[in-house]
Amino acid sequence: MSLRGIPALLVLGLLVACSEQPEPETASGQAPEQPAATHPVAEAEPAEGPPDWLLHPETLPALPEPEPEPEPEPEPVTDAASVESAPAMPADDQVTALPDRPLLAIVIDDLGHSYTQGRRIIDLPGPVALAILPQTPFARRLAREASAAGQIVMLHQPMENGAGLPLGPGGLYRDTPIEGYADILLSNLAELPGVSGINNHMGSLLTADRVAMDQLMAVAQRENLFFLDSRTTAETQAAFAAAAAGVPHASRQVFLDHVRDADAVADSFAVALELARQQGRAIVVGHPHAATLAFLERALPGLAAREGVTLVPVTALLAH
Ligand SMILES: [Zn+2]
Repeated sequence: MSLRGIPALLVLGLLVACSEQPEPETASGQAPEQPAATHPVAEAEPAEGPPDWLLHPETLPALPEPEPEPEPEPEPVTDAASVESAPAMPADDQVTALPDRPLLAIVIDDLGHSYTQGRRIIDLPGPVALAILPQTPFARRLAREASAAGQIVMLHQPMENGAGLPLGPGGLYRDTPIEGYADILLSNLAELPGVSGINNHMGSLLTADRVAMDQLMAVAQRENLFFLDSRTTAETQAAFAAAAAGVPHASRQVFLDHVRDADAVADSFAVALELARQQGRAIVVGHPHAATLAFLERALPGLAAREGVTLVPVTALLAH
């Protein structure tokens, strides 16, 4: 794929994402609460699959650069924009020297409800970080096994979102008393042996709140944790707060499975590879959907030889 092909591919991805409709096989019958970002319900999962509140989107459709018909999205966040035209990111977020080889980091969110899903991530051939939801049945076991296997363990911290979607246990809200932040975070972190970082589950409202982000980063700094901003809103203050607090940080550039089918996942991965080649590195976030797991199990073996892109732990791509 040529470099010039990227914007067109991103635009195509946007149009696909924006046209995404709930599919008829909706298992839970839940009504979409955010029509602009409605996801189909996941494929049939094992009995230990996630609860309904996890089936909501936590991401907003991407908005491309200046291309065709602007979509009326209130909080546009674009994979392309976060890489190519991200306004006013802290200076230390910029790539100062490209590595010899393009680098790619992968983080899988929303883990903890299924042991088999988490174990498949741990067993992938190469570094893939596990972002585990607090107070989930398999959080502690997956964290322990992932650490033992040398995978990065992260707290996938639920944060208040603009769609009013429930966060599940251990969430942070804008009206959480400031003095309560540390207690909630430390309690969530305590379940995850070997945890080394935090990223946000949803959080389009909370990550846009600088006071809240400052509180969170103060805890991250004290606990020697990094922060990965999933960028669920263009207004996010997380990177600024992290930089100010001296917390190693990075931002997600591509969502792997905004659309949950094999072709869409492959297309998103191709975008990420091209970004890595173009910019030296890229950070991809995915979810434990059946299509995503199957794709990674197929795509990661031999990746460096086939694509010229080296998979690295997300900790290798942090700004300090
Ligand atoms: Zn999440």
